[in-house]
Order: sequence, then structure tokens, then C-alpha cells
Amino acid sequence: MNLKGKNVLVTGGSRGIGKSVALTLAKAGANVIINYTSNSTAAEETVKEIESFGVQGLAIKANISDASEVNKMLEMIEEKFHKIDILVNNAGITKDNLLIRMKEEDWDQVMEVNLKGTFLCTKAIAKKMIKQKSGKIINISSVVGVMGNAGQANYCASKAGVIGFTKALAKELAGRGITVNAIAPGFIDTDMTSTLSGDVKEQLLNQIPLKRYGKPEDIANLILFLSSDLSEYITGQVIHVDGGMAM
Ligand code: NAP
Repeated sequence: MNLKGKNVLVTGGSRGIGKSVALTLAKAGANVIINYTSNSTAAEETVKEIESFGVQGLAIKANISDASEVNKMLEMIEEKFHKIDILVNNAGITKDNLLIRMKEEDWDQVMEVNLKGTFLCTKAIAKKMIKQKSGKIINISSVVGVMGNAGQANYCASKAGVIGFTKALAKELAGRGITVNAIAPGFIDTDMTSTLSGDVKEQLLNQIPLKRYGKPEDIANLILFLSSDLSEYITGQVIHVDGGMAM
């Protein structure tokens, strides 16, 4: 799968799943822009690793839930890369609690980053893709956006929202040569899940038929396929990469 000459934006591409996606696509020949919000050291390290594949890399600090920061990010990308072929809406956060203890601000923050951030980045880039008459948009949802999970009402609602958003856009943009798909990862070993207690991890493992947690590369490999010409006839789908958790 050769992505030579393609330009990719991976939101939240400095760490975890996003970093693995960035490196996998760079290895396939794409120039990769990563976005992040606070950890510049991790972002710069990831750019160095992207460039080690002989492609161009760029890290842009921008909070994806802020429209003006997203628009500035787009200007910076256009200046250096002129167009975006593939958008991976990956940045996301959790603020877990049982509903009765969940603060309104924790609800708002999760919706703002996971759902509104996906909307803002997609809106900005889809305009360019429509003019180009081509593009691939890949949104990261979650298995819990389909199954639900106690203690994550905000996160599950945001990730279910990403699925509805994906399907609506797939219909809106199909005639413009743009495909839009979502991936629903299961439990993937990253910073996001490292704070879960041993008990919770054990319970999760018992729900995974393949009997292991996922690796960021398990998600990145599917994104490589969805970014390539081999996926041309796939749009509006939610593809699970979860060791069989949801079936
Ligand atoms: P992670 O390790 O916590 O990394 C999150 C990334 O998102 C970081 O690069 C972070 O940047 C960036 N980010 C956070 N808030 C942002 C904002 N407001 N604007 C721009 N960037 C922001 O997360 P992960 O586990 O790799 O998860 C990646 C995606 O997969 C998320 O959407 C998550 O919901 C989804 N997912 C994860 C799992 C899992 O088990 N890990 C399962 C299902 C779905 P900084 O470094 O600057 O903070």
C-alpha cells in the first residue's frame, strides 16, 4: 500500500494510537502532519520518527475544540503542504464517572473534544476535499460508543455521536469522491487506558474473545488500508477492531 505523495493530518497524533497511525502512514510514503494540544516533547519526537522514513513531518499545537485554533492549523498546513488527502480524526479524551457524580464540565469537555473537535476539523478540511473532488476521512469512535459502558456516559455519547456524524457525512460527500468511515477500537494499550485499575483491566480481558488487549498498531494497520486505493468502495462503515468484544 503506497501512499507516496499523499498528505495526511492525524489529530492527536503525538502519542498512543495517533502516533502509531502517523508512523505507519509515513512508512507507506505519506507526508504526515500531527496535531496535539499540550505535550510538545512527545510531538517533536514523533515528527523526528516520521521524518526518519524520508517523508515530510510537521507538528501543530492546536486545541481541536476551538474553531479559531483549527482554522489557524489549516492555514499552517496549506502554507507548507497545499492540500490534505487523508484526515484521521483521532484526538480524544475521557473524563469518567458514574452519571450521578459526573460534573457538567466533564460532560462538556468530552463532547467538545471528541465530537465538536471532529466536526470542526472535518468541516475545515472537507471544504478543501470537495474542491479537490477526492479525500478520505477516518474517524475514531470506540466499541463503547456501540455497546455502552458504565461510568462513561459522556464518552459513550460522544463516540456514538461520531458514528452518526460519519454516516451522515458519508452520504453527503459520496458524490464528491470522498469516503468517510469510522473505526471502533476495543481496549487498546495506551496512556488513556493505563490509568484503569487492575480489576477493571481483568474484567475487560474477560470480555475479549481473542484474550489480549489491542495494540495501537492493530488500529494503524486498518487505517493504512482505509487510506489506500484498496478501500475505494467502502464508505459509511463502522469497522470494529476489538478482538471480538462486540459482535
Ligand atoms: P492518548 O494516548 O491519550 O492520546 C491522545 C492524543 O490526543 C494525544 O496526542 C493528545 O495530545 C491529543 N489530544 C487530546 N486532547 C486534544 C485536543 N483538545 N486537541 C488536540 N489534540 C488533543 O489516547 P489514545 O488511547 O491513543 O486514543 C486515541 C483515540 O482513540 C481517542 O479518540 C480515543 O477516544 C480512541 N479510543 C481509544 C481506545 C483505547 O483503548 N485507548 C479505545 C477506543 C477508542 P497531547 O499529547 O498534547 O495531550
